[in-house]
Parts: sequence; C-alpha cells; structure tokens
Amino acid sequence: MENNIQIAIDLIVNSNNAIAFTGAGISVESGIPPFRGETGLWSKYDPNVLDLNNFHLNPIEAWKVIKEIFYDFFGEAKPNAAHFALAEMERQGLLKAVITQNIDNLHYEAGSNEVYEFHGNSRMLVCPYCSNKIKASEAVLTDIPLCDKCHAVLKPDFIFFGEGIPELAYRNSVEAAQKTDLVIIIGSTGEVTPASSIPQIAKQKGAKIIEINPEKTLFTDSVTDIFLQGKATEIMSQLLIGIKQKI
Ligand code: NAD
Repeated sequence: MENNIQIAIDLIVNSNNAIAFTGAGISVESGIPPFRGETGLWSKYDPNVLDLNNFHLNPIEAWKVIKEIFYDFFGEAKPNAAHFALAEMERQGLLKAVITQNIDNLHYEAGSNEVYEFHGNSRMLVCPYCSNKIKASEAVLTDIPLCDKCHAVLKPDFIFFGEGIPELAYRNSVEAAQKTDLVIIIGSTGEVTPASSIPQIAKQKGAKIIEINPEKTLFTDSVTDIFLQGKATEIMSQLLIGIKQKI
C-alpha cells in the first residue's frame, strides 16, 4: 500500500492534465450517506421521490422529502479533507478539473473552481416549464418553491431518474476525459451510467487511473491501475503530504 501511495504521488506530480472523478463516497466523511447500501439514503427514503412523473403528480409530497434530504440535511454538511486536497491540487496546477456525480456543492465550497457537475446541483432550482433558475435560498425553501415567472412548481437543478445529463457538464467532462493523462477516481461504485463512462473514455485514450475507495468497485478490476484502499480523507491527505514534498 505504501508503495502504491508513492507510485500515485509520482503519477500525480508528473502528470500534465490530471482530473478527478468523484462520487458519493467523497462526501461520506462530511456526513452525507450514499444512496445505496445498508446505511444509504434509500434505506430510509423512497427513491420514488426523485422520479420525475411522481414529482409532477405529487409535487407537494415530493418537496417535503426533497427539502428534508437535500436542503435540511445536506445543507449542514461541510467539505472534508479530501475536497480541500483536490482544491489545493488545482491551485498548485496539478489538477485541471473535478468531474463530480455529487450534487452537494462541497467541491465549490472547498475552493475548487473547475467543477463539472455531471448530475447538476442542489443549490439552484429550475422551472421545468420555462427553465427559469433561482437560487435555493432558505427563504424560497420555507414553502413549496414556485417559479416567479410562470408560477409552476420549481424542481432542484439536479437530474431526477430518467433525465438527461446537463449538456455543458457532459461536454466538458468528455472533453476533459479525452485530454487527460491521469484520472483520480474517489468514492464511486461505477454503477451509475453514463457517468461511469468518463474514466473508461480516459483509459481508452491511454490515461492512468488511480482509484480511492474502502471497497473494490466496478472500476477496480476493469480500468484502475493503482487501487488505494481506504477512506477519501485519509488517502488524499497522504497524497497531498507526498506531493508537497516533491514540488
Ligand atoms: P455510490 O453511492 O454508488 O457509491 C459510493 C461509493 O463510495 C462506494 O463505492 C463506497 O465504497 C464508497 N465510499 C464509502 N465511504 C467512503 C469514503 N469514506 N471514502 C471514499 N469512498 C467511500 O456513489 P456514486 O457512484 O457516486 O453513485 C451514486 C449516485 O448518487 C450518484 O449519481 C450521485 O449523484 C448520487 N449521490 C450524491 C450524493 C452527494 O451529492 N453527496 C449523495 C448520495 C448520492
């Protein structure tokens, strides 16, 4: 493992276009559980709440749960050492972008600038009818949020089941994957498509893949070159110390 950490540090320091690809696991130590698994959000809540048809049919019921999970609960979370380490690597010119499946805004809060939110984000609300967007402020969320232009019920600006990937984030992510020489995957099972194709695109173009996760994933035996088994905060902190010693 120690040897793999050293190899990963060298790969990062010698890379030219490194990117990170993050999933729900990077935010677990910020107190946000993943969706799946024994302690996942879907063990407590009905995933139907993110079904678009259900949302349109029962917006008031759906908003009660959405507000509880994605605003009251997620809103308390703060970035952790892994989010901060990625932001620091970007400042040092060692990371071109973070492609995240997360909708929790924690990469931006940690100071990362180049963040492609593959599944959208929870800090904005969007009108499904006229596409008007407004900030998900506390004031708006005290009641069922309505569009100030057409008065339709607003939905969070992250994708619900069956919705397409936001166009710009998709384009930026694919382009970054095609150009990169190194991907650091953190906390993703690789079970969600098309997001999981991003590391695969990079691999096909010849990039090296470092993966950080306490458990093996669909990536581990398919695209991963260096598997660093452990929690995101612990491994990223070790990598950052090693990087600082080398630059
Ligand atoms: P996932 O829920 O499928 O898997 C989470 C992964 O994180 C697992 O492989 C798990 O082993 C790993 N993990 C757990 N603790 C970890 C830690 N401390 N450090 C590193 N890894 C850890 O996640 P996914 O692949 O991102 O897909 C789930 C979907 O759910 C995504 O679409 C994502 O948008 C969404 N989601 C987002 C959030 C969020 O915004 N924080 C939270 C839950 C789900």
